[in-house]
Amino acid sequence: MANDPSTGQGTETAANDVVIVGGGTAGWMTAAYLTAAFGDRVKITLVESASVGTIGVGEATFSDIRHFFEFLGLAERDWMPACNATYKLAVRFQDWREPGHHFYHPFEQLRSVLGFPMTDWWLRYPTTSRFDVDCFVMASLCDAGRSPRYADGRLLEQEFVENEEIPSTIAEYQGAQFPYAYHFEAHLLAKFLTRYATQRGVRHIVDNVVDVALDERGWVSHIQTEENGQIDGGVFVDCTGFRALLLNKALGEPFESYQDTLPNDSAVALQVPMDMDRDPIRPCTTATAQDAGWIWTIPLISRIGTGYVYARDYLEPEEAERTLREFVGPAAKDATANHIRMRIGRSRRSWVNNCVAIGLSSGFVEPLESTGIFFIHYAIEQLVKYFPGLDWDPSLRTQYNNSMNHVMDGVREFLVLHYRAAKRQDNQYWRDTKTRVIPDSLAERLEMWGSKVPDASTVYSRYHGLPPYSYNCILLGMGGIDVKPSPALSLADEKAALAEFQLIAGKAKELVQKLPTQNEYFKRMRNEI
Ligand code: FAD
Repeated sequence: MANDPSTGQGTETAANDVVIVGGGTAGWMTAAYLTAAFGDRVKITLVESASVGTIGVGEATFSDIRHFFEFLGLAERDWMPACNATYKLAVRFQDWREPGHHFYHPFEQLRSVLGFPMTDWWLRYPTTSRFDVDCFVMASLCDAGRSPRYADGRLLEQEFVENEEIPSTIAEYQGAQFPYAYHFEAHLLAKFLTRYATQRGVRHIVDNVVDVALDERGWVSHIQTEENGQIDGGVFVDCTGFRALLLNKALGEPFESYQDTLPNDSAVALQVPMDMDRDPIRPCTTATAQDAGWIWTIPLISRIGTGYVYARDYLEPEEAERTLREFVGPAAKDATANHIRMRIGRSRRSWVNNCVAIGLSSGFVEPLESTGIFFIHYAIEQLVKYFPGLDWDPSLRTQYNNSMNHVMDGVREFLVLHYRAAKRQDNQYWRDTKTRVIPDSLAERLEMWGSKVPDASTVYSRYHGLPPYSYNCILLGMGGIDVKPSPALSLADEKAALAEFQLIAGKAKELVQKLPTQNEYFKRMRNEI
């Protein structure tokens, strides 16, 4: 077959020889997943630098991440203790409306009565001032610091919890909502996955990539390393983080910034020690609003990961670090600050010719709502789904790129909504969040959501990991945008809805009484191993 230089079709580039550049969360998750998917039918080499570090943050996840571990055949007891992992039932938003106010965005499907979501009923018949506590069981479990599992390991019982026995992928289980995600130490996960992947045959090279060679078609022919010479391959996976050495630098694929709508471009992070016997392990990530952004708090076993995400246009790094240290208090005294510049946006295409970027090299939409690792997991699943054959059918790359672009563009809309909907307007940073340009499609949606809470027909329509209930939580919780109940609810019989609110309250009370705290649960898990 003749070469077609524009598509690569007809070339003999062997797709089953994969070279991954980068050994952060993205690199090792990709290596581990590909071995689990293809076994020794695909040869995998991972090259990582000893001198260029990983980003060192990224410790909160989406609930779909459980499919990743299941796919690898790992139970929680196999990997959680090794990664100092804890459970995450929700994101807690603190002070976004006003000082002292908080609400949760939980991992829990929103129930409905007579076809109207409980949030809509709540707007018409608010039983308390807390929509999250009235509409979701998880909010009460978070306030009480509960584990989603009983002391003997059984999962809390809820009718909407998907069957946890069936290993699957994100794509197969979009109808249900698993009730929790994880927090884990990123570097411990990378270490754990290194062992997992190398034991299954992944070749591991620690070296610096100094050059990326392209052939006459513009395809990557090999990478050049400092000490191990030339490394050839078929598919090259760029997991080099914000540097994007292969996709953006060598292949010149343009990067499309989201900075006009999401101005936070910097972060400073600290790792703070914690005493499991004394300090409660909150079962949620907390995002606390600050003068020029927000601070994350991620409780792990024996330490807390925390960091201030901010916009350089409004705050200098020294000031951000000072604020973060004050926020943490004396425990931050000996912690070393990690200052990070963030590249917000996505590559125009994440897969070009025989190079696929996964992780920060592909795109990143700031850490609010913890979507970075979700993008990685989704990208790996899509790579397996659209993995090339010998003919390198370009349509597979196009479909991959469409799905990755949609997942990131959709999340971008969701995050912009947080800032636009937050009631806080007490300084220039927060006032600007109300006047800054927003994606046109979001502007149209906001018009609709002003008269009816979001549903499947009015949120970003392509898969992006966030169901309509997530938008309901942000709109009702942030408090800066007026949302009205559907007029039909004043005509409908409210008895069944009020009974549903009582059922939720009863279930929450029962579970708070029966479930252990996270501290109790993990002490037991760790003692039993
Ligand atoms: P990196 O960790 O930067 O790894 C890059 C790798 O490339 C390294 O191994 C390096 O050695 C290698 N490399 C680079 N150059 C060379 C070279 N020349 N030769 C050889 N190797 C090279 N995501 C979440 O899901 N949840 C969160 O809570 C979250 N919080 C975040 C907070 C912040 C402030 C930021 C910036 C990101 C956060 N993320 C979060 C995103 C998450 O951190 C990343 O998605 C994840 O860590 C993946 O990073 P990576 O592997 O793409 O890149």
